[in-house]
Amino acid sequence: GVVTRFAPSPTGFLHIGGARTALFNWLYARAMGGKMLLRIEDTDRERSTEPAVQAIIDGLEWMGLAADEPPVSQFERAARHREVVEQLLEAGQAYRCYASQAELEEMRERARAEKRPPRYDGRWRDRDPSEAPEGVKPVIRLRAPLEGETIVDDKVQGQIRFPNKDLDDFVLLRSDGNPTYMLAVVIDDHDMGVTHIIRGDDHLTNAGRQTLIYRALGWDVPVMAHIPLIHGSDGAKLSKRHGALGIEAYRAMGYLPVALRNYLVRLGWSHGDDEIISTEDMIRWFDVDEINKGAARFDFAKLEALNGHWIRRTDDADLVDMLMTERDFLPNGAILKSHPDAEIRAKLSAAMPGLKERAKTLVELTESTAYLFASRPLPLEEKAAAILDDGGRDIVAAIMTKFAEANWTAEDLEAVVRDYAESEGLKLGKVAQPLRAALTGRTTSPGVFDVLAVLGRDESLGRLSDQLR
Ligand code: GLU
Repeated sequence: GVVTRFAPSPTGFLHIGGARTALFNWLYARAMGGKMLLRIEDTDRERSTEPAVQAIIDGLEWMGLAADEPPVSQFERAARHREVVEQLLEAGQAYRCYASQAELEEMRERARAEKRPPRYDGRWRDRDPSEAPEGVKPVIRLRAPLEGETIVDDKVQGQIRFPNKDLDDFVLLRSDGNPTYMLAVVIDDHDMGVTHIIRGDDHLTNAGRQTLIYRALGWDVPVMAHIPLIHGSDGAKLSKRHGALGIEAYRAMGYLPVALRNYLVRLGWSHGDDEIISTEDMIRWFDVDEINKGAARFDFAKLEALNGHWIRRTDDADLVDMLMTERDFLPNGAILKSHPDAEIRAKLSAAMPGLKERAKTLVELTESTAYLFASRPLPLEEKAAAILDDGGRDIVAAIMTKFAEANWTAEDLEAVVRDYAESEGLKLGKVAQPLRAALTGRTTSPGVFDVLAVLGRDESLGRLSDQLR
């Protein structure tokens, strides 16, 4: 079966580009009935941190892209990497190189002078190890082919040809006994049974060297798909300003995982003109062969619009659950902790149909629930106070007498307000505004009749009368 993998280096948190790579790997595994594995590439001990590992695992989990097996630590596999290098040495596919730093620097300098890329000149390739200088710890290099070319048949980039003279005898094992990234990736992918490597195209040049390692070991080369990087909306490399943020930042901005998945899958893959794609449909339709070659551009406005769409599409009960969970991550989540949970849930459930139509993010959705939990007398925003001062109080007083007899549903209350507005020759908004100001303390809110219905008779009349004192 198909085995994909996501192989982040835990030197930072899970960022948006990494999340897209994970999504493609996850999708392909789901589409093919296979599995996606997670490998933490933590060989850089200086820069890898435990909080970053945890953030990657949590981020994937939150995105709905959790791996199918516990993560593999690359660092912990160093003994296996050394063992494979021993095999290569024994088979004559690798050799010990005792070139000093000064010699290597000289090679680099010559390359600079001749304006060509630096390349190890193979001086220890055929030299007898008995000539090794005293006390120097060697590196171990691959005995790479000198002629011909290495072809990477990439699913996205097509056939990429690397002349072997450009792929020098690169290092597999450092003099301190630590494997290089190039070697570790190949051994790990092989041992983990990876059949498909889907990763950023910044790794394309590594693919040639890695192919040489596979060949030297007599192992099958996995299918490769190098996906274009994400660029900013202006076409420049993605920076923080463009959205190159950690996934937890998107969580804090109130994006839904389903919307992020929808947005990210479209960065580099499409299905006709479909903009809104459910995860089920992605799984049904996704194929690595269809990933675009061109760089994708990140567009916050599009993400926001999609998020609003998915908020409207999500069941009310699920949105309530989501708000209760996400309140710990949202900057204004404290609004949803101001009362006992059962009361908050009940109020959110009652208000949700009116609230979800407007919010583009969970932050906005949370903000729009604030009126539900405000305590009397409501503090008024300046503009709301001005509306009440400016004749609004009289309207509130008049409406209250009409409300006394009303059946307390959004429809009936609306009919009452319409009748009143008509009889007074006022536009509906003229009446709704002061009501909204008194009921919510603000000038924007969900529909005022929904607000009345959700707050109920006692709370509504209480808030209105507070403003008449
Ligand atoms: N650890 C590499 C990175 O984070 C990915 C290596 C790979 O996918 O082969 O860029």
